[in-house]
Amino acid sequence: MIIVLKNGTPKEEIDRISQDLSDSWGVQPEKSVGQHQVVIGLIGDTATLDPRQLQDTSPWIDQVLRVEKPFKRASREYRHGQASEVVVPTPNGSVHFGEQHPVVLIAGPCSVENEEMIIETAQRVKAAGAKFLRGGAYKPRTSPYAFQGYGESALGLLAAAREATGLGVITEVMDTADIDQVAEVADVLQIGARNMQNFALLKKVGAQEKPVLLKRGMAATIDDWLMAAEYVLAAGNPNVILCERGIRTFERKYARNTLDLSAVPVLRTLTHLPIMIDPSHGTGKAEYVPTMAKAAIAAGTDSLMVEVHPDPAKALSDGPQALRPEQFERLSREITDIDEVVNRQDQPAVALV
Ligand code: PEP
Ligand code: MN
Repeated sequence: MIIVLKNGTPKEEIDRISQDLSDSWGVQPEKSVGQHQVVIGLIGDTATLDPRQLQDTSPWIDQVLRVEKPFKRASREYRHGQASEVVVPTPNGSVHFGEQHPVVLIAGPCSVENEEMIIETAQRVKAAGAKFLRGGAYKPRTSPYAFQGYGESALGLLAAAREATGLGVITEVMDTADIDQVAEVADVLQIGARNMQNFALLKKVGAQEKPVLLKRGMAATIDDWLMAAEYVLAAGNPNVILCERGIRTFERKYARNTLDLSAVPVLRTLTHLPIMIDPSHGTGKAEYVPTMAKAAIAAGTDSLMVEVHPDPAKALSDGPQALRPEQFERLSREITDIDEVVNRQDQPAVALV
């Protein structure tokens, strides 16, 4: 359930209504302040509350509405139609993800392999306009015999690359036991496709402060995905970015996955959360990545994650889908042109207070 306040509601009245909600109505208020509106989301058992009675508690209440979607906090209704933003502090400054901001680029290798390659990649992608370095320390692999990532030592190399470039770091956490260690280095914690419904992991990343990048499971419906996001939000972490990375379809021969770009407009109607597209896992082939990356920008994605490796032929994982740094530079230039046509500009966004 949400309470929509009238324009110009005084702060003291917002505070009084919030206090009254927790003291007399047994629900937790969660306030979001938009450009034109303040909306209070009600957390708790709202099934028995009468919207008309609530409406009568203040002349400043415009509407009391039930949120019909099962993914309450992730739903667009929960913010009364307003988009939210995820703001990530990095050494180079805060980066804003969301519909009201320019597209954010994230690039880097599938796995962190050694110091030289990660620093070189970080420098090259930074020069090309990326705001974040990606790279796996813990790798989810289909085969237990495949390279599993260098773990803790790779986290140290990511920290060195962050220090050298000021880029934010996005890396995957696969195990609840590793969250604290990964969060020491990562500016955003990635939950991979294979763990999208690892509910223990979702609850734990929801209970810590770093923003979460939630990849879509390879066989997940949009409802499954948004319910997974709801786990993180319900555990107290409002900063979730949704990443489409391709789903399994009957086509396996020419593309590794089928990149579901229709997820962008669909998510826009269903959720206020920022959206990311990963055309690297989405296609599995470097030659298709630029086309789908540009299509994703045209479709309106808020951010793009691309695998980049200084020497893809020698990569320890996902080499066939990695762009070389110069290919990424070119893609980044092309994206800027499309971005201008799509006309994304900084606008004031809704904030959780
Ligand atoms: C990755 O980002 O390298 C990765 C393993 O992604 P996904 O979980 O989408 O397969
Ligand atoms: Mn990969």
